[in-house]
Amino acid sequence: RLHDQLQQLRGNIRVVCRVRPVQVGQRDIVSYPLEGLLAVSPPDKRYQEFEFDHVFPPCAGQSVVFDEAVASLVRSVANGSSACVFAYGQTGSGKSYTMQGTSEDPAPGGGADNAIPAATPLETGADSTPAATTPATAASPITTAPASLGGYSIQVSMCEIYNEAVYDVLAPEVGEEDAMKALEVSTAGPCELPPSQDRIPGRTWRLLTSAEGVEALLRECARNRAAVAAALGIQSSRSHSVLSVRVEVAEGARTEGVSAVGWLHLVDLAGSERADKSDVAGQQSKEAQIAGRSLSALGDVISALQRRDPHVPFRNSALTAALQDSLCGDSEILLLCNIAPEATSASETVSSLNFASRAA
Ligand code: ADP
Repeated sequence: RLHDQLQQLRGNIRVVCRVRPVQVGQRDIVSYPLEGLLAVSPPDKRYQEFEFDHVFPPCAGQSVVFDEAVASLVRSVANGSSACVFAYGQTGSGKSYTMQGTSEDPAPGGGADNAIPAATPLETGADSTPAATTPATAASPITTAPASLGGYSIQVSMCEIYNEAVYDVLAPEVGEEDAMKALEVSTAGPCELPPSQDRIPGRTWRLLTSAEGVEALLRECARNRAAVAAALGIQSSRSHSVLSVRVEVAEGARTEGVSAVGWLHLVDLAGSERADKSDVAGQQSKEAQIAGRSLSALGDVISALQRRDPHVPFRNSALTAALQDSLCGDSEILLLCNIAPEATSASETVSSLNFASRAA
């Protein structure tokens, strides 16, 4: 109960940390001294502890992460709230695994743990399906939803944010040469748009009608994401991928005083690693700096929200500008900091932990 009370006092922002399994033959520098604490002992550097709302060690599978960190948020969205989940961390730390339920290169047979953060806005009350019985493709946050499509209309959209421009991953022309046009983002102030209005008016939305539809859509998203990256000539680790789910509650199922539209944004952030210093003048370094600035801007927004600062600098990056309606007001925010536990990642790990604890 004390935990719940503290949680209420802390408001709508939770910062959790997830550590992926250590690679075979590598030294693990992460330890777990107490609940909510994570410690690192980098080679030749001092021992440091960091505190979070929750720490998921490598043994915590997808269903544990979903139940503990994501489920309540999904329930809120099904009730007409807005929520954002951000996966932060260096490339290779497990962001995509956590957000999509499958890695880009899934283990043969799908892998028992390749299922989950099944954030189905709809599966809210149900017990989570054990990972081992969930097919790999049924892994993503929205997958299990259509079981209870009745009462809701669910639409999905996906954008890629790269070099401060927003691209529509589901646009019909994706993959065609020279067809990648950036989307316009409305400049209305935060929480000024009606809750049902999209801040990125020109983007493509797909209505979900069946479970099969979800799986096909997620496959299409993955394919198109690759096509967008190829068309723009980019490394996907330097772009943010935003999967948005718009849940409209049917008239008969609405509760009085509650918004009829809920929004959930699942954001696989650009890799947090610093620009390669050996490429100071190069294009990759410029991209890395732009991605880095955009991550700092997200950190600034979350800190301002935590402090309840009346001025939140949403407009300092395309990412926070695009998501501002689901970051302000009563919106719920989950920052999931992904950690690679190997000694070879020590400095990136410490910088990720510093970023996340600044937001906590
Ligand atoms: P990122 O998206 O941050 O670049 P990935 O999600 O691709 O990282 O993860 C890197 C590798 O680690 C992938 O092969 C992925 O399957 C594996 N991995 C990540 N997190 C976990 C985890 N919690 N359990 C098992 N394997 C994981």
